[in-house]
Amino acid sequence: MSIDKNSVIACKKGNPLFTCQRIAEQFGCTREYVRQILNKAGLPTSLRLPKSLCPQCGEPKKRQANLCPACSHKKHWVLIKCAECGRTFERRKSNYKRNTMEYQHSSTFSYSGKVFCNRSCFGRWLGSNYGVGIVLKQQKIRIQQLEDELARLKTL
Ligand SMILES: [Zn+2]
Ligand SMILES: [Zn+2]
Repeated sequence: MSIDKNSVIACKKGNPLFTCQRIAEQFGCTREYVRQILNKAGLPTSLRLPKSLCPQCGEPKKRQANLCPACSHKKHWVLIKCAECGRTFERRKSNYKRNTMEYQHSSTFSYSGKVFCNRSCFGRWLGSNYGVGIVLKQQKIRIQQLEDELARLKTL
């Protein structure tokens, strides 16, 4: 195996969070070989992340938090597409779950599983599905019924 030991050492020094496995994959050799090189060079071969680092991305986090701000944001917020205008926006997962089930007058605008980015989108959607649109449709049906009735009477 013709692996440049100095490059392996330089790699570990440049990326202290790299495991032997990761370095081995990079150089196409075995993990044991990397471990031996690092051992001889007096470098750490096992990786134990300090508690203040995020276990998901390795970025620093608050000691009492499980994840770094970015990862915990990703975990608790969900990207939603507005059912009216198609704009994507973020919403807390807990709110989202609670509010998709039924219409609620809260800071989140949702109705029967559809979610809207703001009040005007929600209003527009409601209007075209349950408001003026529906009333007009019902009136049209009523007029049609009356016309049918009239036509029936004329044939008598
Ligand atoms: Zn993270
Ligand atoms: Zn919208």
